[in-house]
Amino acid sequence: MKAIIIGAGIGGLTAAIALKNKGIEVEVYEQASEFKRLGAGISLWTNALRAFKEIGLEQKIINLGAEINSSKLLTYNGQELSAIPAAQFKEKFGFPSVVIHRGDLQEILVDALGAESIFLNKTFQAYHDNDGITVDFLDGTSARGDLLIAADGIHSKVRRQSFGDIPLKYAGATVFRGICQQDIPEVELGSCFETWGKNGRFGVFPMRNNEIYWYFTFKQPANNILKEEKRKSFVETNVSNWHQPIASIIRKTDMPDILQNDMFEIPALKTWYKNNLVLLGDAAHAMQPNLGQGAVMAIEDAIILADALAKHDDITTALEDYQSRRLARANKVQRLSKHLGPIGQINNPILSSLRNTIFKLIPNSFRMREFNWLFNFEI
Ligand SMILES: Cc1cc2nc3c(=O)[nH]c(=O)nc-3n(C[C@H](O)[C@H](O)[C@H](O)COP(=O)(O)OP(=O)(O)OC[C@H]3O[C@@H](n4cnc5c(N)ncnc54)[C@H](O)[C@@H]3O)c2cc1C
Repeated sequence: MKAIIIGAGIGGLTAAIALKNKGIEVEVYEQASEFKRLGAGISLWTNALRAFKEIGLEQKIINLGAEINSSKLLTYNGQELSAIPAAQFKEKFGFPSVVIHRGDLQEILVDALGAESIFLNKTFQAYHDNDGITVDFLDGTSARGDLLIAADGIHSKVRRQSFGDIPLKYAGATVFRGICQQDIPEVELGSCFETWGKNGRFGVFPMRNNEIYWYFTFKQPANNILKEEKRKSFVETNVSNWHQPIASIIRKTDMPDILQNDMFEIPALKTWYKNNLVLLGDAAHAMQPNLGQGAVMAIEDAIILADALAKHDDITTALEDYQSRRLARANKVQRLSKHLGPIGQINNPILSSLRNTIFKLIPNSFRMREFNWLFNFEI
């Protein structure tokens, strides 16, 4: 069998490695002309490392990442609301959670797959499903295979051809991301936090080499993307009375390196495959990034899809198996993520103080049950 994958993001690359390991021929087609090192980190929770073990990459990722020991939820003045005891989950599931530079993760995946399986500058245009799959690219070339895997992200053109136009939903907030490359004494490797304040949330994830990955989500209408030189002062102004070391981290971040994206999701889909086409990652379940599980779900998808294809000779049976093992879980994570965003970005002082009180009262056992479900990935 030969699989054609559209998109060399985290999902597409992981799927390609997993398929190759199972002896399935695979080609990855990517629209970009080169792999760029995106200036942001990414959190990969316990379940991601468990999934990466299936393709033998977990140790490389742990080596280049920074282990998360704890991740605290704080109020704007630094009071603790709750904490994810990541070290306890490492003990329970046998895998740590890490934060890693997106560029490092990309390099690990590209190296593991091998450049000969990746075709750059190939923009998907259309596919034909007759006696196998033929894919046409913008440059006039085409490729043939038995299975088409759409790993082309939230705006998936492959999905559009087979499932029609699915309108994206704006999450009501934009997000700024940066990497601070200077030492901040109050920031300790392994200790992450997310602070909830008026209209936004500020997250801090220390990485290796004294780099600190941070993000700031802010409630506002869509399409207000600021010019690069205005982003730093915008973030600074909106967190000016929040606890330290937030102000120091922003002050010490180089200005051109601050990214801004509006946050979108797709509505939960009821099916992920049609004949010999299957959706994976953001193409199937793009979610708001509030739980840090979007890429993790793509990685889990990739491992399960390869497992299903190796188990069943018939492609339809394999895709049905993949969907039955993945769709409900990914849709639930998408739902949880969606509900978390507005809770963290309340701007009414009475409501936010009520929320804080309720959060402190939630029993630890309840929180642990939810995280146990989330972090427990089984093949
Ligand atoms: C602000 C923010 C923070 C996040 N933080 C986290 C986090 O900490 N942890 C986590 O797990 N997730 C996080 N996520 C989510 C995560 O980034 C995504 O879920 C993940 O990148 C999805 O991977 P993917 O491979 O499915 O899609 P993508 O990463 O979008 O990759 C799709 C690829 O397809 C290519 N492509 C698109 N169209 C075509 C075409 N027509 N032809 C050929 N190629 C094409 C694109 O160029 C791209 O390379 C975050 C998201 C955001 C927005």
